[in-house]
Amino acid sequence: MILDRASLAAQWDVASVRADFPILGQQVNGHPLVYLDNAATAQKPLAVIERLDAYYRTENANIHRGVHALSQEATGAYEAARASVAKFIGTPESRSCIFTRNATEAINLVAATWGSANIGAGDEIVVSHMEHHANIVPWQLLADRVGATIKVIPVTDIGELDLDALPGLLTERVKLLSLCHVSNSLGTINPVEQIIPLAKTKGITVLIDGAQSTAHFPVNVSALGCDFLVFSGHKVCGPTGIGVLWGKPELLNAMPPYQGGGDMIDRVSFDGTTYRQIPERFEAGTPHIAGAIGLGAAVEYLMARDQAALDAYERELLGYATEQLKAIKGLKIYGESAHKVSVVSFVIDGVHPADLGTMLDMDGIAIRTGHHCTMPLWARFGLEGSARASFAFYNTLEEVDALVKSIKKAQMMLG
Ligand code: PLP
Repeated sequence: MILDRASLAAQWDVASVRADFPILGQQVNGHPLVYLDNAATAQKPLAVIERLDAYYRTENANIHRGVHALSQEATGAYEAARASVAKFIGTPESRSCIFTRNATEAINLVAATWGSANIGAGDEIVVSHMEHHANIVPWQLLADRVGATIKVIPVTDIGELDLDALPGLLTERVKLLSLCHVSNSLGTINPVEQIIPLAKTKGITVLIDGAQSTAHFPVNVSALGCDFLVFSGHKVCGPTGIGVLWGKPELLNAMPPYQGGGDMIDRVSFDGTTYRQIPERFEAGTPHIAGAIGLGAAVEYLMARDQAALDAYERELLGYATEQLKAIKGLKIYGESAHKVSVVSFVIDGVHPADLGTMLDMDGIAIRTGHHCTMPLWARFGLEGSARASFAFYNTLEEVDALVKSIKKAQMMLG
């Protein structure tokens, strides 16, 4: 059901939310910015920008190694950020949250360490046809190295996982199921609460790629029962260059180290080196201290929102955008699951997505065009890529109108 705009405004005061995001107030190419590329990266609220500013103005020091006041302050802020991240993903153990550069690095870390120790010749790794390249290529590299095989859960025509195929794929040779919670190209929310228990009863380790889900709704690793979860700070309104690997502590502590260097060691000698437990075990060298602190501020900002109102608002944005876009002649939406986040991928007859993106940019509208790092998915649909509008809780129905108007104009000029 599409609410009228007044009822929607009463539930979610988007004007005051937008005031938290200074970048949204600017003009691009002479038009108010309409930022609809949130699945690529989200904008940052003042709470994050000001936290970064304060850190560099008053707290900057290296962590975990100084006895002086600034170092202790920076260490405290860094570890407080880890505690915020733990709360954000529903784990009581903040040490199980490892700071990485991004979701990509977190998956590579698991592939390089847990994968090398636990996956061998003849073993199988299951992913789905809708994965981002970040959840395909690290497993291909591992599989090539150790002689394992990758199997793929098919995707249906409306862009859902073909769950009927799953039991047949989860054979006793499968050591790992690595699955996106939400597809960045289709928007589909996968039923991981159904899939994880099925894999676990077969003794399969499960990694959930939460890069898109964490940006839209609370993800609770304790409730999900997965073994690993990864996500990126920049997609949840935090800084770039910081991400998270969460893992069950017993798994993480049993994994060989990833990178060697300062902070991750217990004792070093030329006769042999011993390693620390988590989280330091996987945080070699000086980490992105400011990034972690900024991420802490971002997840605190998100956790302070009224999640039910945010969900309802994003659903309205998605419903309205879908209805308006579908009404455009020659436009086809890919990803029509009833369970999806506010991401709409589409192609228009006779209009190349890149040309459309360029035309929309002239009206100040930022969308994504191309393969969105899901080449196998688009090949399955016989496409090279698509246009993609992805909405966040700070977008408006008026911005949907602006998108539709600009698409129609571009269609007339390009079609
Ligand atoms: N997984 C999914 C589903 C994504 O959408 C993305 C980024 O778009 C990634 C992984 C990789 O994220 P990053 O580039 O921040 O490492």
